[in-house]
Amino acid sequence: MKVALIGVGQAGGKVTERLTRFDAEMGYGAVQGALAVNSAEADLQSLEFADTLLIGADRVNGHGVGGDNELGTEVMQSDIQQVLGALDGRVTSSAEAIFVVAGLGGGTGSGGAPVLVHHLQQVYDVPVYALGVLPGRNEGALYQANAGRSLKTIIREADSTLLIDNDAWHEQGESVEGAFETINGKIAQRVGLLFASGEAVEGVGESVVDSSEVINTLRSGGVSVLGYATEIASEDSGENINTAMSVSRQALLTGTSLPDATTADSALLVIAGEPDRIPRKGVERARRWLEDETGSMQVRGGDFPLDSDRLGALVLLGGAERSDRIQEFMNRAREAKKAQERDEERSDPAEQFADDRLENLF
Ligand code: GDP
Repeated sequence: MKVALIGVGQAGGKVTERLTRFDAEMGYGAVQGALAVNSAEADLQSLEFADTLLIGADRVNGHGVGGDNELGTEVMQSDIQQVLGALDGRVTSSAEAIFVVAGLGGGTGSGGAPVLVHHLQQVYDVPVYALGVLPGRNEGALYQANAGRSLKTIIREADSTLLIDNDAWHEQGESVEGAFETINGKIAQRVGLLFASGEAVEGVGESVVDSSEVINTLRSGGVSVLGYATEIASEDSGENINTAMSVSRQALLTGTSLPDATTADSALLVIAGEPDRIPRKGVERARRWLEDETGSMQVRGGDFPLDSDRLGALVLLGGAERSDRIQEFMNRAREAKKAQERDEERSDPAEQFADDRLENLF
């Protein structure tokens, strides 16, 4: 699937860069163009693979919006023509979809990405998806509250929002920075493989996934989720029937970008590996299992050739917003917002003296 990527904010830029690099290094050629947009100049300077655009310089002078996502929204609204102009020629006619990438808990990405998605929908005919990073449980209240509002808005605007929970794809005990590196690497590999699986790859049998199957899996909108797992496989495909099942189970049950999301409107199962190692029977069985497990009547599927001694399963779920994890996150965001408002009241001297049992002198 040929895509154009636009990263907004720090996380958006870093993830976009990583994805673009992965796609180039693997020689997939799915990423047609990449642009990183930010109000913080320093964050843009560290990027090599994506083109960059600074916005909001008249408001924040290249220093970013802090954690103020309402300011992030305003800055994107003011400079939207500049951003759309910069995309001219980068979103080429070969792009089959646009992905807007952002950390939903910050300021520029959180506030700016939904605005950008909204405007892209007016300009382009291809689907506009969001790739959103949710803050982990241990991140502060501001991140949770910001992400709640951003998620609500971006789901309304995007054709589908692929969610990555920052708690999902890293090891316990890693430093925050180390964890980001790990998570970004995993996003690049998994999402990069999803893009590539919609590409024509040389020397492949008939059941390669078509881009339209990815797009159809995401058609119901709402939240989408991606899972991945691999295992060592035998050279004889006949011995890999259980392996195909077991990687598919792991991809869905323990390997998804949003833990515990297993209910979906539609699903796509891509089995990746050396063509000789991919067991037809195992793939069919895994697909039926996925149908039962997700309650989805529409499980699409295909193979992706990978030069590896392992067998991998990539599972994409569309319409997965009914998961408990989303409910839990939205509750967390609402609580954080309430706590923030209480704090603001307490720290506002006017509120403290608002009681009219004592009157002002004049
Ligand atoms: P912005 O630059 O104002 O849009 O803010 P950020 O992009 O820094 O957004 C902050 C949110 O993104 C927080 O939830 C962070 O945990 C998360 N975040 C920041 N950098 C990264 C990163 O490199 N990878 C991942 N996965 N999350 C990040």
